[in-house]
Amino acid sequence: MQKHSFYGGIHPDYNKEKTAGKKIEILPYSIGESLTIPITQHLGAPSREIVKKKDTVKKGQLIASSGGFISSNLHTPFTGEVDNITLAPNPIAGNVPAIKLIIKETDDDFLKIEKSDKFQDIISAAGIVGLGGATFPSHVKLSPPKKVDTLIVNGAECEPFLTCDHRLMIENTEEILLGALLVKEKLSIERLIVGIEDNKLDAYKEFGKYQTKYNFELHLLHTKYPQGGEKQLIFATTGRIVPEGKLPLDVGVIVHNVGTFKAIYEAWTFGKPLFERVVTVTGAVKEPKNILVKIGTPISKLIDFCGGFVGKPKKIIIGGPMMGFAASSLDTPTTKGTSGVIVLREDDMPDMKKSNCIRCGRCVEACPMGLVPAIMEQFSLNEMYEKLIDWHVVNCIECGCCSYVCPSRRPLVGYFKTAKRQVMNILRQRAQK
Ligand code: SF4
Ligand code: SF4
Repeated sequence: MQKHSFYGGIHPDYNKEKTAGKKIEILPYSIGESLTIPITQHLGAPSREIVKKKDTVKKGQLIASSGGFISSNLHTPFTGEVDNITLAPNPIAGNVPAIKLIIKETDDDFLKIEKSDKFQDIISAAGIVGLGGATFPSHVKLSPPKKVDTLIVNGAECEPFLTCDHRLMIENTEEILLGALLVKEKLSIERLIVGIEDNKLDAYKEFGKYQTKYNFELHLLHTKYPQGGEKQLIFATTGRIVPEGKLPLDVGVIVHNVGTFKAIYEAWTFGKPLFERVVTVTGAVKEPKNILVKIGTPISKLIDFCGGFVGKPKKIIIGGPMMGFAASSLDTPTTKGTSGVIVLREDDMPDMKKSNCIRCGRCVEACPMGLVPAIMEQFSLNEMYEKLIDWHVVNCIECGCCSYVCPSRRPLVGYFKTAKRQVMNILRQRAQK
């Protein structure tokens, strides 16, 4: 069987065995419990809250509206009362504005989103964003200004520890496919590809069962990080290269994560807004699980549902260990982008004591974008941003492969994240001249 891949990348310890076979469990909630729902949970313009203290809201009701085209709606996951407009801890921004909700009912009925003949309007109204972690508003991706001929279902889930997509692919195979077929039909896309890494053969076989019923290509991918990166996945499945500064649609492709396709299917078919998602909770917890969680739930509740900590936690990562962020508080709420909660103890963490670069070249071999991290590091440290533009830092996808393989523990990806912000400012200024 032919397996598809890309240049560079790494093979970290995947640590998925604790949860790969665990069915998705539904997290129970009680009347009187509170949720703290961050108002902005997506990339783009912030949303604006449209409720105030003491308002009563019905499950599925819009509580914050989109702040522009590249923005997203937000809906309440329960019927309840707005306790306050407050702040919630956030792993990137410190504290962010949030709506504190007291749950008054826990039934399944929800307010449906308004019907529309326009597919993109439904996706926008439902507040759907990329559930792979990027949280880019889906209706924007689904409004391409030019012809797209290929749609890719991203079932790579290449980040270590995470198995939420794996479980969705086994337990909700047909819903994912129906969401993808809907997009294919509405956007008149000719080709549908499903890409799954070969460490999830059970999921690959599930999709295989539907190949005679629905018309799509099923690609088995080498298990290699970052196989789920859009550019890597597009190359592995179509051979197309997304040029620097361009988007997948510039090479005629749209990529969505499996969870996003399921959300699209539910929005179109049942009028369901996006107010819950599957989260993998693993690492040093008594019983690691995949859990269906409402947005705004504190991570402490997820950890309790898994039986609590094993040993003393040193770091809790929200997302995957390669691209996720450390939580500053157990009160940190889950959002639409929370794919994982990973608890690490001191012994689970690598020694991060850094030493001088030994010019070994491992970072260059590992970089999936063909960059030269060792040289880019020098320009970053010396704030030589023009040089960084020449060395294509904007192409860095912040995957962390270079930092992972570096024997001198240079925190390369951290330098590039900071430097890229400065470089983007320079490029914006150049474009305005
Ligand atoms: S973080 Fe950037 S420079 Fe480092 S390996 Fe990934 S793409 Fe290359
Ligand atoms: S991997 Fe680390 S030590 Fe080796 S060349 Fe790159 S930065 Fe230097």
